[in-house]
Amino acid sequence: MEQIKLDFHIHSHYSPDGNMKPILILEKSMSVGLDVIAVTDHNTTKGALEARNLSEQMDLDILVIVGQEVKTLSGEIIVLNIEEDIPKNLSLEDTINYGKGGFFIAPHPFDKFRQGIGEDLDLIKSKINAIEIFNSRTLLSNHNKLAGSYARLNKVPGIAGSDSHFQEEIGSSYFMLKSKKNINSVLKGIKENEIFIYGRQTGFKPHIKTSLIHFLK
Ligand SMILES: [Zn+2]
Repeated sequence: MEQIKLDFHIHSHYSPDGNMKPILILEKSMSVGLDVIAVTDHNTTKGALEARNLSEQMDLDILVIVGQEVKTLSGEIIVLNIEEDIPKNLSLEDTINYGKGGFFIAPHPFDKFRQGIGEDLDLIKSKINAIEIFNSRTLLSNHNKLAGSYARLNKVPGIAGSDSHFQEEIGSSYFMLKSKKNINSVLKGIKENEIFIYGRQTGFKPHIKTSLIHFLK
């Protein structure tokens, strides 16, 4: 089986703080060699559905997984493979129940500046499928390290996400996995196969741009 390259955390212009059209996400992702991406807008699957449909209609060589980054009372959680929008501001447990059958990831869990769920990870560690142990927008590298140790200690698979809101961020982090390029094989592979993380932090600049976009929208 071949090694494939994946990024499970990308925002489109359907996020209040992002500006990328789904077609641009597809173009840019293919240009940096990504095989699989999850589009994960804040509290909506609109961007992901559009990207997935475009990829299928145009028969592009990239697999799009439908995702959303849902705000809960504890912080944010990424839900993949559920098409319906999950209501925001539910408890973590209710969010997981609502998204039953989905694939759950704790993004930047120890980044307290950016809605990480922190210690509440303990409440759901048996129910989540992966922890984002490298997030390119995390400003303190310590936050990624804490996530990595937590994942190892609790035997939860660790993945990476660029948290891209702008095209120059796509490719800043990704993970590699032995898997076929279809959703079932990928999600099963995360559970069973070795995962290799590659990443760099994108620094302050994208954050400033994000606040500006949010302000201008
Ligand atoms: Zn995000």
